[in-house]
Amino acid sequence: MTSPIDTPDERVCERCGRIEHWNDDTITWNVAEQDENPAIGSVYCIHEWDINGAFVPVSDVDGDADVDAKA
Ligand SMILES: [Zn+2]
Repeated sequence: MTSPIDTPDERVCERCGRIEHWNDDTITWNVAEQDENPAIGSVYCIHEWDINGAFVPVSDVDGDADVDAKA
């Protein structure tokens, strides 16, 4: 147990396949490379990251988090 705040280090767009890795040094997401090509995906995509919804960045410390689960 380190910190109640957890961060993902990779995210993948479920729409266009864009892959990004978290860079702790620049504190930004960087586009990952696949087969020596950047996995940019579609520049017109409204990216829907696979860490949405299921990923909880902060532990529910006090137990009353207002989670609005979409059906
Ligand atoms: Zn996308």
